[in-house]
Amino acid sequence: MTVITNHLPTEELQALDAAHHMHPFTANGGLAQKGARVITRASGVTLTDSEGHEILDAMAGLWCVNIGYGRDELAEVAARQMRELPYYNTFFQTTHVPAIALAAKLAELAPGDLNNVFFAGSGSEANDTNIRMVRHYWAMKGKPTKSILISRKNAYHGSSVGSGSLGGMSGMHAQGGLPIPDIHHINQPNWWAEGGDHDPEEFGLARAQELEQAILELGEDRVAAFIAEPVQGAGGVIVPPASYWPEIQRICDKYEILLIADEVICGFGRTGNWFGSETMGIRPDIMTIAKGLSSGYAPIGGSIVSDEIAGVIAQDEFNHGYTYSGHPVAAAVALENLRIIEEEKVVEHVRDVAGPYLKEKWEALSDHPLVGEAKIVGMMGSIALTPNKETRAAFAAEAGTVGFICRERCFANNLVMRHVGDRMIISPPLVITCEEIDTLIARATKSLDECYAELKDQGLL
Ligand code: PMP
Repeated sequence: MTVITNHLPTEELQALDAAHHMHPFTANGGLAQKGARVITRASGVTLTDSEGHEILDAMAGLWCVNIGYGRDELAEVAARQMRELPYYNTFFQTTHVPAIALAAKLAELAPGDLNNVFFAGSGSEANDTNIRMVRHYWAMKGKPTKSILISRKNAYHGSSVGSGSLGGMSGMHAQGGLPIPDIHHINQPNWWAEGGDHDPEEFGLARAQELEQAILELGEDRVAAFIAEPVQGAGGVIVPPASYWPEIQRICDKYEILLIADEVICGFGRTGNWFGSETMGIRPDIMTIAKGLSSGYAPIGGSIVSDEIAGVIAQDEFNHGYTYSGHPVAAAVALENLRIIEEEKVVEHVRDVAGPYLKEKWEALSDHPLVGEAKIVGMMGSIALTPNKETRAAFAAEAGTVGFICRERCFANNLVMRHVGDRMIISPPLVITCEEIDTLIARATKSLDECYAELKDQGLL
């Protein structure tokens, strides 16, 4: 049998991939025709593919490689932990040092009384935990009818049956029988696409007040929690108007609705603070974490839970958990990642150096004829492509057609930018330097210019 390594020709790797590998969120038939791009190694913010291209990864993988690629310290820690204790579980009244140390570190980093961690293997699993935990919490408090979780259209909370139901992606709900019962979705604070003639702040307030209307319609005695990303990521990096979050917090407080902040993208420095909740000025009862927790070097997620909720849950057995909850190798890697973020002042780098530098350059992209609004918080940004900035019009072509063309131009120019419909988004490694930001912006601008020319050629403008 052929040994499959980096040294095989790209076409051979692509053929084997097409024959046996089912890719997530992909039309695999189409991909098989085209051939997947084969990434062979990475260092810092740069990926290398099997053809030797050096690509600036402005998405940090899937929003996760916060400290950049190729950090030996994490490899060393993983190897050490694998030799010492590669696996043990945290069920049946046992524990181990990596899980203890990571939980204690997260309690120290998290705001307020978020001092308790339930580990999972991913963000999806952690949000599944949250669904069960908040419902069980209210049942334990003698209010079992409080079982509805309110979320938002176009939110992303994961891909499992539970977390996919929490999310508000209609394409996901259309497949596989989602959502599960007792999940309710309100509208998102996406002013560019849905704000009409309102000014952004008035619109933000109105969208937040939909939470209050939903609570009143569903009944306060039926609603367990509200979940949201501090800044919507996969929905297109939708930065809410400043009026939005304070109003949400007011409503959650008024009706005693638990607030779950899904920090899977925003956590661990991405918004210029340790957590997006701090940037947005909110006080969650639970935070979902994953991705930047280990900078993607090992699969790990979790829920950081308030003393109040953890105290109630502790009174009985919570019939929930995963084989890999608190996996020792993943926990050790996460801990080392947090040490690096802290000691190398990565959050400060985002807040004081790379963030302000990128913000200035990113916002200037709105001068491009194809770009409407340009939004950015810390190291997550988006631009809305439009044929008419004044009217915020959508393209006549099917939504996403232009975004896809732009993304393909980016790929050709060795830049990974993602498109969500006709919004282009970035979420680079947090350690990106100002010089690398210049390269990112230069490649993005070139790609926008080429996209603009192609749209004119094809009569799409
Ligand atoms: N929540 C948010 C906000 C996310 O962005 C994601 C992943 N993109 C998830 C949850 C799900 O995480 P995972 O893919 O690790 O299950």
